[in-house]
Amino acid sequence: MMKVYLDNAATTALSKEALESMMPYLTQVHGNPSSFHSFGRNARSAVEKAREQVANAIGALPEEIIFTGGGTESDNTVIMGTAQRLKDRGNHIITTAVEHHAVLHPCEELEKRGFEVTYLEVDEFGAVSPEQVEAAIKDNTILVTIMFANNEVGTIMPIAQIGEICRKHNVWFHTDAVQAVGHVPVNVKEMNIDMLSLSAHKFHGPKGIGALYVKKGIRLPSLIMGGAQEKNRRAGTENVAAIVGMGTAIELAVANMENSTQKMLTLRDRLMNGIESRISEVKLNGHRTNRLPNNVNYSIKYIEGEGILLHLDLNGVAASSGSACTSGSLDPSHVLLAMGLTHEVAHGSVRLTLSESNTEEEIDYALNVLEKAVTTLRAMSPLYNK
Ligand SMILES: *Cc1c(COP(=O)(O)O)cnc(C)c1O
Repeated sequence: MMKVYLDNAATTALSKEALESMMPYLTQVHGNPSSFHSFGRNARSAVEKAREQVANAIGALPEEIIFTGGGTESDNTVIMGTAQRLKDRGNHIITTAVEHHAVLHPCEELEKRGFEVTYLEVDEFGAVSPEQVEAAIKDNTILVTIMFANNEVGTIMPIAQIGEICRKHNVWFHTDAVQAVGHVPVNVKEMNIDMLSLSAHKFHGPKGIGALYVKKGIRLPSLIMGGAQEKNRRAGTENVAAIVGMGTAIELAVANMENSTQKMLTLRDRLMNGIESRISEVKLNGHRTNRLPNNVNYSIKYIEGEGILLHLDLNGVAASSGSACTSGSLDPSHVLLAMGLTHEVAHGSVRLTLSESNTEEEIDYALNVLEKAVTTLRAMSPLYNK
């Protein structure tokens, strides 16, 4: 049986290059980057090199990069930190209905603490418009947080235009760019982004390491209190090997972006064409062109997404229904519901996300398995009678 991994939006495989760059920091260089001696200095210089690699990848300055424990921590730091820092200036936050739970849950927590949160509605493709953002800004707005690209349907938001509006109104603008960095061009200066979250394991780096870009001049309190690491912006001894792996992975991802995008687009179109020509009554979720190059998401009528995933898994194909964090719950995706899908159609959705190392053979195999799964499940469905 072929094993095909089509769940790269949940996590990616660690690249050989990232692993190799990490090895010395797991085996030989064990110093604490905060230590003054040569052991410490060796670790420190590796951390600072990675900081430059991350900064270069998004058009930031090295001193604007804070290493964190991942995308979730970066998002939490911005939302809880901005609320704390600017609570005397205002209590209103703008976000969207389709954010990752790493943004939505801190926003809900702030509502319990007396903050007001506007959840912008999205169009049928899962996007908000810059005009919607501008109309929602009020005198007491302290933060706009809008994801760069959606993790379920791959829709890319008009980030540069939203950044321009926030700059005009002098409101801090954060974007959860976890799905975007390493996959589409991101430049914090050109796009007027004040704060940005990224996570290494979404671009072939290690898990449990991420970064937060915070524009020079903005000072956020740290979620994690303790030592003076990261210039007092995030306490705790740095995960040196993971930071080095992230640096390698992000540099490679950006350097190879054009090439890997081209490869993934070819595979994505093969997969999309295959699904649309071989399976009846399917609906593409998200925009046909304005989407991440590796994202495919369909609702398949008359069946449950979970049923398809089981069939796929039994045949070695890894896919997902919505985000990894919500699978296990029976609620349909909040993203698909926000896009106007009915519960029934949202329940029948499957997300297949590619990496540049997938092959045409794998896509064809996955298509065969998917077609068979749909035929089998529809034959058992009381709703399907054709
Ligand atoms: C994966 C993901 C996160 C969480 O990042 P972790 O590093 O796994 O904590 C946040 N936001 C988006 C959009 C994601 O895809």
